[in-house]
Amino acid sequence: MNSAKFRNWVKKEILSSGPISLSNAMRAALTHKDFGYYHSKKIIGSNGDFITGPEISQIYGELIGAFLGYIWEHSGKPSNSLLCEFGPGLGTLSADINRALSQIYPNFSCSPLHLIETSKSFRKIQKTKLKKQSVYWHEDFKKIPKNPVFAVANEFFDALGVDQAFFDGINWRQRLLNFSTKFEYVAGPILNETQIKLFDANHIKNPDKGTIIEYSPKTDQIITEVALHIKQFGGILLIIDYGKTNQIGDTIQAVLNHKPAEPWSSAGDADISHWVDFKSIERTAEKVGARFIGPVSQSHFLTQIGIKQRAQNLSQIDNPRHNRAIFAAVDRLISPAHMGNLFQVGLITPTGKGFPPGFEV
Ligand code: SAH
Repeated sequence: MNSAKFRNWVKKEILSSGPISLSNAMRAALTHKDFGYYHSKKIIGSNGDFITGPEISQIYGELIGAFLGYIWEHSGKPSNSLLCEFGPGLGTLSADINRALSQIYPNFSCSPLHLIETSKSFRKIQKTKLKKQSVYWHEDFKKIPKNPVFAVANEFFDALGVDQAFFDGINWRQRLLNFSTKFEYVAGPILNETQIKLFDANHIKNPDKGTIIEYSPKTDQIITEVALHIKQFGGILLIIDYGKTNQIGDTIQAVLNHKPAEPWSSAGDADISHWVDFKSIERTAEKVGARFIGPVSQSHFLTQIGIKQRAQNLSQIDNPRHNRAIFAAVDRLISPAHMGNLFQVGLITPTGKGFPPGFEV
């Protein structure tokens, strides 16, 4: 069991330096080489712990491909462009993007594909799935060439971990993870000025005692790098994730076999994630001089870029079973009862005006 190894790791960390930050604990639970969840087998898909947009229907990736192509065309078709995906999982999204692009923008579809992926087992799966393309893997974004980049991140930022702080009635304090006889949260030091800024805590008017707020240091770091790159060299980053537009509330959650689980006691064996704070992403992107558009709901985005028309085109006369499956998948992606409203879509671009398809209101 990975969860026992995670528990031992936490205990050791606490012995040497005291209770640990939640983002460090989340990152270890997902990526540690001895017990990290992402090194285990079969986690995404209908037999795994969770299913994602690209795994629900090929239409998802095809529409995103058409979207990237449209933006590429309207940026003057730069011939040195790169495609990029953050956390590609099974590689399905990049494969579907490529299939759509090769039909509508064949030149663009031949662009080198740069994948940001830390997990060796996922890299292996991606290598097989994407063998027709020229693919480069990186541990982080800093290594990618200084060219216009057309990047997507689907359910990536929710895996980067968050820190939490809480209001004790007078001050904001860090919320840390401890283990005595079981996992428990304990109060850490009072937030310093820098941390107050990062959590954007001063903008919360009259917080109730016990209010919890979140901040993801790793998200901030990656968005800073990507937004700077986009500002300097052009391109976009399309972000799709379980999202919110403020920092308030405890959103750390775990899923095991499609069911909610207690995060820390199942860590290593369960997927652990948090809701992405799109306002914080917007602040970070704008701080370095890039533009942030959105977020809009996944339902709004996919409907506006033509999910219903595409489903109609794929349906076949005389094949009601096939058609039912297509429309059930579309429903899962856009209906508010499923992913439609929980998932949010945001876009980082260089400075500019106007709204691309998907983001018009
Ligand atoms: N985008 C895919 C997979 C989502 S799972 C889909 O929607 O189906 C998250 C992915 O991000 C996995 O591929 C995981 O290995 C990768 N990942 C998680 N943390 C990462 C990190 N810090 N750096 C790079 N990749 C990471």
